[in-house]
Amino acid sequence: MKRSPMPPRRTPLSRGAKQLARKTSIRAVGKAGGKPGKKATAGPKPLPAKVVALVRHRSGGLCEVGLECGGLAPAVERAHRMAKGTGGPGRKGRAVSNSPSNLLDACRRDHDRIDRAKVTDAYAWGYKIRHGIARPYEVPVLHAGYGWVLLDDRGGWRSVPDTVLTPSGLLPVVQITCSEYEYDTPGVLIKTLHRYGHLDCGGWSYDWSGELDAVLFCACGSDPFVVVLTDLPPETCS
Ligand SMILES: [Zn+2]
Ligand SMILES: [Zn+2]
Ligand SMILES: [Zn+2]
Repeated sequence: MKRSPMPPRRTPLSRGAKQLARKTSIRAVGKAGGKPGKKATAGPKPLPAKVVALVRHRSGGLCEVGLECGGLAPAVERAHRMAKGTGGPGRKGRAVSNSPSNLLDACRRDHDRIDRAKVTDAYAWGYKIRHGIARPYEVPVLHAGYGWVLLDDRGGWRSVPDTVLTPSGLLPVVQITCSEYEYDTPGVLIKTLHRYGHLDCGGWSYDWSGELDAVLFCACGSDPFVVVLTDLPPETCS
């Protein structure tokens, strides 16, 4: 169901300082007939308190970017990795935009740096994410406290393998379950291949060979992402 002929906002964050509030007309967002769910507030959409609490718990109150402060400054604001408004229209887009995996607890200087001053670096290190296929929980980020990690939407994180770092940029990471790995149960991998447009390329492969991670090679010649297990190491699968 297509809902809105309105184009997404393009330049949400680059118009000068101090105007985080009230960029969005809440009215443009409309109401999707979805589940009732509780609405944090109707006004100029601050982050839900629950989300802020999850991010704060993850950060321990310190800046998660750390380019300027070394990760030692108190975090005072939440930086969006994928810019606000790029998650898509309506409730769903807002949910992506405001998910813990899309947010970094940041000091003001670092927030400013990744949003405005040195944006290119910010993409290379996962502090910013271009609007596209990859979801925030799939894109690695160089966390000031934890190193290269994936952030999840429950306020957690996990380390990622070096294979995500390629000359052409960061590869997204797809986490699959043991049963998918062992029995080829259709699951996240299939869905993800579909989302990335590689389900019908004629096959794919990845080779863990004792490692916990592998780049997936697609028959079309590209290597769209890295595959890791959700939790268990492969040898415990069977
Ligand atoms: Zn900082
Ligand atoms: Zn920002
Ligand atoms: Zn392909």
